[in-house]
Amino acid sequence: MKRGGLVNTFKQFHFNPFIDEALNDKGFETPTEVQAKLIPLIQKGKSVVGQSQTGSGKTHTFLLPLMDKINVEKDETQIVVTAPSRELATQIFQAASQIAKFSTPEIRVTNFVGGTDKQRQLNRLKHQQPHVVIGTPGRILDMMNEQALKVHTASAFVIDEADMTLDMGFLEEVDQIASRLPEKLQMLVFSATIPEKLRPFLKKYMENPIIEEIRPKAIISESIDNWLISTKGKDKNRLIYQLLTVGHPYLAIVFANTKQRVDEITDYLKGQGLKVAKIHGDITPRERKRVMRQVQNLEFQYVVATDLAARGIDIEGVSHVINAEIPEELDFFIHRVGRTGRNQLSGTAITLYDPSDDQAIMAIEKLGVTFKPKEIKEGEIVDTYDRNRRTKREKSKDVLDPTLIGLVKKKKKKIKPGYKKKIEWAISDSNKQKRKVERRQQTRSVRKNKKNSNQ
Ligand code: AMP
Repeated sequence: MKRGGLVNTFKQFHFNPFIDEALNDKGFETPTEVQAKLIPLIQKGKSVVGQSQTGSGKTHTFLLPLMDKINVEKDETQIVVTAPSRELATQIFQAASQIAKFSTPEIRVTNFVGGTDKQRQLNRLKHQQPHVVIGTPGRILDMMNEQALKVHTASAFVIDEADMTLDMGFLEEVDQIASRLPEKLQMLVFSATIPEKLRPFLKKYMENPIIEEIRPKAIISESIDNWLISTKGKDKNRLIYQLLTVGHPYLAIVFANTKQRVDEITDYLKGQGLKVAKIHGDITPRERKRVMRQVQNLEFQYVVATDLAARGIDIEGVSHVINAEIPEELDFFIHRVGRTGRNQLSGTAITLYDPSDDQAIMAIEKLGVTFKPKEIKEGEIVDTYDRNRRTKREKSKDVLDPTLIGLVKKKKKKIKPGYKKKIEWAISDSNKQKRKVERRQQTRSVRKNKKNSNQ
């Protein structure tokens, strides 16, 4: 497959044979878009900010060219990679180890994450330095502070999921690591979005980096209905509760901007008797994994999440997205709303706003999103005409990112019939499943009672 003149085979990168062997072993034949675009730049030693998503093949985008250049004869750290969670770091470590084993002598890759045996890692570092260090910022810094891990020899520093790193409060630690790396350094930053708060950091360490945006094509599909509901004079939590219970969502995700807000909404909804899954950065990785599995098994009908914690979550059948507030980054709006309306199914995205959000709403409309003003009246969601907002309208002075506009499909097609049926089937399937479980539980408790009364 030809991709607009980009490299379409790994051969053209002229990697060392061990890299080609690793690729063969993995069964990778064609570089992904981000690989085709960035590998040549990374091979030239450029510092790059790659704006791309998990799932785009970004891990190999940096591992292949960087590991290709490692000098295994040298007993020193040459590449440092940070990721904001243990799982992400471990995934990168596994990908790097798969490549490393094809090199002779073998490239030494180490995974420094919390929850592992620190003393053992310290002892090993006394004897030998790894060639590639992969880990969470805290543990890597720990190893450096113990004077065990020596990073002054590194020539490349990769910060994966930089926006999530910022969101989880690890940027300070990444900054400390970066400040102890050599000045002449190839820095690669991967981030799905580039929040304002990340920019000073990028400026501090990267002089004129190449910023490459690799965006998935049109992610807000035309089958999504965008509703806009004013929160003026209303109890926001109650409004969310009503929206979740009036229309019967198959699976609804409520997005909020902060962990605190996610906590508040979750507590409120739980207080009203709904079974709600909560996903944000303060939830332990193990808990998050468990919740995710439950969500995927349709054990929850409602999920409340922050943007970044929801990253990488690919849930089928999201029928409703509720923006409890408008996100600070315009990109996030698209990512949130893009969670529904997948595979040509219809979806409803409900955005709550208050009068101070007027500018942000106009910016979203400029992307091509058409909002239908709605309100809840006598327990029903009905059309409304929002005069208030329209009279206050001023011309927005913001210059919009033209690439964002391309993400919104403009033509409003008729919603395909069949979705409702599909959802009904799915709901009936899941109800059947639930009833089965209930029956089993009942039989079990009857048996137990019998047993107890027999004893
Ligand atoms: P990542 O975005 O790095 O998490 O990668 C997403 C998935 O794509 C991983 O399972 C990779 O193993 C896989 N992958 C990466 N590059 C390629 C490629 N060129 N061809 C096929 N699969 C790939």
